[in-house]
Amino acid sequence: MRKKLLLGNWKMNKTPSEAKAFALAANEMVDFAVAHDIEVGVAPTFVCLATVKENINPKCIVAAQNVNEHDHGAFTGEISIPMLKEIGISWVILGHSERREYNGETSEKCNEKIKALLAAGMTPVYCCGESLETYESGQTKKFVAEQIRTGLAGLTPEEAGKVVIAYEPIWAIGTGKSATKETAEDTIGFIRRTLRENFGPVAMDIRILYGGSVKPNNVAEYMSQEDIDGALVGGASLEPNSFQGLIDGMLAK
Ligand code: PEP
Repeated sequence: MRKKLLLGNWKMNKTPSEAKAFALAANEMVDFAVAHDIEVGVAPTFVCLATVKENINPKCIVAAQNVNEHDHGAFTGEISIPMLKEIGISWVILGHSERREYNGETSEKCNEKIKALLAAGMTPVYCCGESLETYESGQTKKFVAEQIRTGLAGLTPEEAGKVVIAYEPIWAIGTGKSATKETAEDTIGFIRRTLRENFGPVAMDIRILYGGSVKPNNVAEYMSQEDIDGALVGGASLEPNSFQGLIDGMLAK
């Protein structure tokens, strides 16, 4: 049985004091979610991670939005796995389309980071998803399968079972133009079959999230789909009321 997961990606939003205010406001809703078998988490910026970790309900996952694959060294501006571990962070989002577009993050680079995270006993959330052009030319599955195969290359089935996948069509991120539940399920079901071909039965245990303009009023639709295990949410995860609305919507499954 795959546990439902709601993960908020705060992107480059919130100062430390704003992040702390959210953390304090979220304590009861985290308990509520956990009591209803929903795992919840937020991914603040690096500069807010420690503050959020210290102030939020300990049952809430606190994830980083990126990490470097090296433990230390001459990598100006980067953050390492040991640094995250020391402040109690064990989840990291990788390969978000914004990082792929603005920071040149490739599936090959994500593969190195995923391996480093797994070796450190941490949980990668690996994002994949196609552009509007790829979608309109009917190449979504080919494109996403390649991202999955490259990002998870060389993992054992046991390791693959520890990764969370987020399918986020780029044309739906921050645009208000969400994929229909049927479109999302079609691609996510395909991703699960791709995982099965590559890693065997463990694919049935891997959580796959949908992301792209998920809101309190449409999250239930996605959760009603067999292969969709949760949501990676940007804009609607920023305010406590909206976050509570997402949790309420997820109860529907
Ligand atoms: C995201 O940042 O991963 C995302 C899906 O954003 P939004 O929910 O705002 O579309």
